[in-house]
Amino acid sequence: MTESSLHPWDRAAPERAGKPSAYALLPEDFAALGAPGRAEHLFVQCQHPWAWVDDRPRLSRAIREWMARNLDLVLPEILERRVSEDGSTKLVLGLSDGEHIEAVHLPSEFRDPRLTLCLSSQVGCAMGCTFCATGAMGIKRNLTAGEIVGQVLVLLRVLGIKRTQRITLLFMGMGEPLHNLEHVHRAIRVFNHKQGLNISVRRITVSTSGLANGIERLARLSPRPWLAISLNATTDAARSALMPVNRVWNLARLRQALAAWPLGARERLTLEYVLMAGVNDTVEDADRIGEWMGSLRERHNLNLIRMNEHAASAFKEPDEGRLVAFADRLKARGCFVTVRKSRGRDVQGACGQLVRADSRRG
Ligand code: SAH
Ligand code: SF4
Repeated sequence: MTESSLHPWDRAAPERAGKPSAYALLPEDFAALGAPGRAEHLFVQCQHPWAWVDDRPRLSRAIREWMARNLDLVLPEILERRVSEDGSTKLVLGLSDGEHIEAVHLPSEFRDPRLTLCLSSQVGCAMGCTFCATGAMGIKRNLTAGEIVGQVLVLLRVLGIKRTQRITLLFMGMGEPLHNLEHVHRAIRVFNHKQGLNISVRRITVSTSGLANGIERLARLSPRPWLAISLNATTDAARSALMPVNRVWNLARLRQALAAWPLGARERLTLEYVLMAGVNDTVEDADRIGEWMGSLRERHNLNLIRMNEHAASAFKEPDEGRLVAFADRLKARGCFVTVRKSRGRDVQGACGQLVRADSRRG
């Protein structure tokens, strides 16, 4: 198959001059590439932002020369750093082929050492959800595993994150992660590795628009992250109008894929529901969510998100009274509901506001 016959989202950035990214390699990959020195040591040096690649005194000259010859050591470049009034930070990152992505840091609301990073998995998105700014820009390409890991390393370094801080990763930035499962999963293996950032899969959540076949593939992989599903509507007609994915994988089929998800101990499924005024915010919608969930109600979190308004969509957020009535109705039906605080809106870093900087112009 030639490069041009692939769907755009199957095409990742070409590895620079055929070199693999140092940040996507596991210890066994360093060994397989014939790296001099201990493979674990090289892995640690590449993964710990506090033991950085450019100024790493603990690597011999021979190893550094080998790395420069054989690996791609370039990290995403910070083009813009915008700090929101609420303390969240959005980074616009430049990739080696000139594309841009965005990554967001959400500090803990409490004074504890927890933090959440919201990551992109693609440049743009092919899913075309009508309420989403990323959807409006279409798909450019998949991110490589090195670029996905690179987002985290750059964020941790620029924010001066300490090793002791507890990191949560959400694949809720730009893109549909299940359209780029191979690279997303490799990145998860790297994040999860004991000698690397050692982030538990309980702290890594992959959010999908509902590709049932992708959910089933992810369910079979190990390590397996936690899963979030963007529901956003309660009838097939309404959901297909908002999210074209529903025309292929409808609510019944999605429900089937979720029922088969092998929930681990203490694991919960997250359902995300973006509330849009006059579109999906009636108490009948709330009742239908309860019905659709059925037995899933035992092990889930239902996250209500206020629609973040933006220029690419006419949808509006509902008023507070409506939101409260919706949440109360769900609770009365036995759902575990949280209303997500919208953060980073003033820097366009909130859900569904992430777009490549240049597509916002004009
Ligand atoms: N593509 C994946 C992950 C990225 S989108 C997915 O769709 O799940 C992350 C979340 O942002 C999704 O739950 C999506 O429904 C939500 N979202 C998209 N546009 C939004 C908007 N304008 N306001 C609020 N949330 C939005
Ligand atoms: Fe893509 Fe998610 Fe936006 Fe839909 S909501 S267009 S799947 S990023």
